[in-house]
Amino acid sequence: MIDLLVVGGGPAGLATSLYAARAGLEAVIVEQRPGTLDKACGEGMMPHALAHLDRLGVVTTGRTLRGISYHAGATRIEAAFRGGVGRGVRRTTLHAAMSDAARTAGVKFVLGTAGEITQDANSVRAGQFRARYLVAADGLHSPIRRDLGLSRPAAGPRRWGIRRHVQMAPWTDHVEVHWSSEAEAYVTPVADDCVGIAILSAGRGGFESKFAAFDELRQHVAGHEFGPARAAGPLRQQVRNRVAGRVLLVGDAAGYVDALTGEGMGLAFSAAEALVDCVVRGRVDEYDRRWRALTRRYRLLTEALVQAGAVPAVRSRVVPAAAALPRVFSAAVNLLAN
Ligand SMILES: Cc1cc2nc3c(=O)[nH]c(=O)nc-3n(C[C@H](O)[C@H](O)[C@H](O)COP(=O)(O)OP(=O)(O)OC[C@H]3O[C@@H](n4cnc5c(N)ncnc54)[C@H](O)[C@@H]3O)c2cc1C
Repeated sequence: MIDLLVVGGGPAGLATSLYAARAGLEAVIVEQRPGTLDKACGEGMMPHALAHLDRLGVVTTGRTLRGISYHAGATRIEAAFRGGVGRGVRRTTLHAAMSDAARTAGVKFVLGTAGEITQDANSVRAGQFRARYLVAADGLHSPIRRDLGLSRPAAGPRRWGIRRHVQMAPWTDHVEVHWSSEAEAYVTPVADDCVGIAILSAGRGGFESKFAAFDELRQHVAGHEFGPARAAGPLRQQVRNRVAGRVLLVGDAAGYVDALTGEGMGLAFSAAEALVDCVVRGRVDEYDRRWRALTRRYRLLTEALVQAGAVPAVRSRVVPAAAALPRVFSAAVNLLAN
């Protein structure tokens, strides 16, 4: 019998299967999309996310990230990562590298969907598969989470994200966060000839209309070729519990606040490691508590920033306040980065 049937072959599913293989478990990934996977993402790997990839033997190309900077008009403030560097990596590059590492580690891949899930005291069945545990790594709008009744109505500001690549040499080794009155634009260098721009805001809509608010940034990239747009949202997803019998949720499926602090992949990797540890020790009952503990700091800080950004009078003061309190800004950046 398969030890872990992992539904979803994004970063969370791949990291779970890699940690499982390292622990001597048999893991099978079921992914519905063929080929190398892309997704709307800022593509910034924080230092702690990169540390997981190093531990898992995943080697990626990309661009070194040395910190985070905030920009609003002429006001700007930057904070360096103190505990190591991050990396900007295109999602397609990351997917190829993690998939290669998983295949090398003996993980099997199946193209398809999980089908109906049933479980008894000893196993869980999904379509043709029978496994000891099923891991739902099926993303922000996790169909498995919904079918098992684990979703909660989301309370709080609803936001969406949209990303495009610009074909040009990066001008920064920081993730630049540009704040306008209604949106933030995240600039991440991801290759020697490519920069990602992800825009987060409270409304749906096309990239162009949102990008119009970022004058300085628009001038910087004017005349360069843009790639296609990819969107995602609403970002906020609340979850009752990350364990239902033999089914465990990981990655965005396990709950999500916002992309504002660029923590999604790092948290997915940490949760993947904790999940596999719980399975190995036969203590899946501990997983939900461990997930809450390891994501608490991120959830509190991201929630505080999203709530502040939703009130116009407070929003306009975020970057000036960060610039006036550089040590506090640096401490907050490093609380999340490491
Ligand atoms: C605009 C934006 C910017 C972001 N910026 C950053 C950033 O800079 N840094 C960072 O770390 N994070 C960032 N994030 C968050 C990051 O993208 C996510 O946290 C990460 O992709 C989560 O990975 P995942 O594997 O859980 O989900 P996904 O990457 O969504 O993968 C889920 C997979 O499950 C598959 N699937 C779904 N249903 C089924 C099914 N029934 N059967 C089989 N397969 C299925 C899907 O096809 C998909 O491939 C950002 C997110 C957004 C939206």
